[in-house]
Amino acid sequence: MKIERIDLFQADLPYSGGIYTLSGGREFHAFDASIVRMETACGLEGWGESTPFGSSYIAAHALGVRAGIAEIAPHLIGEDPRQVERLYDVMDTVLAGHLHARTALDVAAWDILGKATALPCWMLLGGSTGRRMPVMSSIPADTPERMRQNVSRHRDRGYRGHSVKIGALDREGGPALDAARIEASLADRQPGEFYLVDANGGLTPETALRLLTLLPTGLDFVLEAPCASWRETLSLRSRCRVPVILDELMQADTDLAQAIALDACDGIGLKISKAGGLTPGRRQRDMARAAGLTLSVQDTVGSTIAFAAIAHLGQTVPERHLRCILDCRDMVTTQLAEFEAPVADGGVLAPDAPGLGLTVNRAELGDPVASWT
Ligand SMILES: [Mg+2]
Repeated sequence: MKIERIDLFQADLPYSGGIYTLSGGREFHAFDASIVRMETACGLEGWGESTPFGSSYIAAHALGVRAGIAEIAPHLIGEDPRQVERLYDVMDTVLAGHLHARTALDVAAWDILGKATALPCWMLLGGSTGRRMPVMSSIPADTPERMRQNVSRHRDRGYRGHSVKIGALDREGGPALDAARIEASLADRQPGEFYLVDANGGLTPETALRLLTLLPTGLDFVLEAPCASWRETLSLRSRCRVPVILDELMQADTDLAQAIALDACDGIGLKISKAGGLTPGRRQRDMARAAGLTLSVQDTVGSTIAFAAIAHLGQTVPERHLRCILDCRDMVTTQLAEFEAPVADGGVLAPDAPGLGLTVNRAELGDPVASWT
């Protein structure tokens, strides 16, 4: 089986909540998605997506995704998409780094592998736990009362995990505002709920320690991505009384190896496009499990195509290690595909259809912005 054609599409995904605010005053209105369609000589097609969270979240941006795909795609024509690790070897030889660009191609290959074997990706990734995966909300930084209301709205819709964004600059209110945001967001906590307080690298060890000092004891949460650098994170980690989760610092599997060696965290945010696709994502899942870390399986953001990859990988993580998955479908108003995995009975179950199990809406995508044959 050989790859005969690769098409690249672009789509704008408006944020469903209007303006998304992250630490450091970063604001986002819409996200620029790159979608890959991979076709084999025998007529199978696979789909993959890479949608960075703007250009200031990690070292990834939409134009870079498409430039990276243009660099790699010609070299994949003629390769066997079912040999996902070997396809990754080719990508390694063509373009260093740029994991976000590799992701759409890697996920499309997994979709073809599933269709070629008539098996869902979760089966090929090791098998489903059969358990509905709890979904997490993404609560942008806001006033404490509005954040409390936002958590409540998501709770009413079946969300069990809540990713509460903090990271106020001193002139915006600093640690006192962040402490109030955390207390308000956790105020109506229900049994079985899980809270990630996510600074997206916006704190220094100093502001993080001041924040923790201001909080009452007994609040049950983990602190995610407190600081932007390894130095700051390790300094804080040695003086921090709450579990630390790494996200933005955790990109390549070598980052995870380093975090485990340094005992830098208690869990990770495993975002598919940050990791470089399902092939390295699978490896990070296994490394985290071996090290006794918890995982949230997510992506930076994205449409239904990105969510399908999240659902299939998340479905293979044992309950003890899986905190929650991110339903990125909920974050954008444009969906590019049908995917039979509603939030119901406390979570999401990946479907049994072959591959990713997607029906892509071609009319929504329009014409490709580039093609390789
Ligand atoms: Mg995060």
